[in-house]
Amino acid sequence: MTARILDGKALAATIREEIRDEVSRFVEQRGVQPCLAAVLVGEDPASQVYVRNKQRACERAGIASQLHRLAETCGEDELLQLVAELNADPAVHGMLVQLPLPAQIRAEKVLVAVDPAKDVDAFHPENVGRLVQGRPRFLPCTPHGVQQLLVRESIEIAGAHVVIVGRSDIVGKPLANMLVQRGAGGDATVTLCHSRTRELADVTRSADILIAAIGRARFITADMIKPGATVIDVGINRTDDGLVGDVDFEAALAVAGAITPVPGGVGPLTIAMLLHNTLAAAGALI
Ligand code: NDP
Repeated sequence: MTARILDGKALAATIREEIRDEVSRFVEQRGVQPCLAAVLVGEDPASQVYVRNKQRACERAGIASQLHRLAETCGEDELLQLVAELNADPAVHGMLVQLPLPAQIRAEKVLVAVDPAKDVDAFHPENVGRLVQGRPRFLPCTPHGVQQLLVRESIEIAGAHVVIVGRSDIVGKPLANMLVQRGAGGDATVTLCHSRTRELADVTRSADILIAAIGRARFITADMIKPGATVIDVGINRTDDGLVGDVDFEAALAVAGAITPVPGGVGPLTIAMLLHNTLAAAGALI
């Protein structure tokens, strides 16, 4: 058996096209261009690439983008001041503060300062709470990308046992919350695993849908996968062989029913869902 490859890159291109059409309709009807402001503190090379990619994607979708850069040494007050200005600027609809932040800045202080109505990353506690309660304003981008991939590839979520390995606030926890909600795209039975989980392989082998968000290259081996399961690899690990996921892709191909590659799987969907949220923040989708 060879697993079906779930082409996240192609799906992201489709979603971005859909968004571009919606943006142009919105601009025509309202005479307002949706605008995303990104805040980048310091010179972290990976963060610079991420922000550049987000800006490029905005441009292609017809969304205006702003980049606000602060020095690595900037203080928390300076950053909070910038966030307050962007909150107050009616031309800015969505805002994100690129993580990680330098050690002198408390990320939780900054994320809570972002106006929840502009919080397109959906990291603000109000948006997290709304998500948990099943009435989200924005869905966080990577989990939303994973959910879209499952739905649009017709992978049955309702009633499935979904095992997620990784309980971070940006991927594992919100994704678990989304997939367990009542209704379309939800109704799964979710198990959320982490570094203290006992007999991890026994748990992952019971998954109809196995989602890896760990940050360890090729950690999920073929023997941890139930034959025919859907495997979603969120991991992005830089190795001597280039970018690899958290799943041993070559070996998993022979066991899984469907699987995402890295790169070209979940990654491109994350940015597509950021565009979706920016359009929603501008009032087009709510
Ligand atoms: P974190 O480092 O915040 O979380 C990693 C999680 O994996 C933790 O919950 C940790 O458990 C768990 N874990 C670590 N080691 C083990 C182990 N041996 N057994 C079981 N669980 C383990 O990572 P993120 O969620 O931020 O990111 C995960 C991966 O996804 C990374 O590779 C990242 O680059 C990638 N990523 C990709 C995105 C995309 O757009 N495709 C977006 C965001 C992230 P514990 O809590 O107990 O420490």
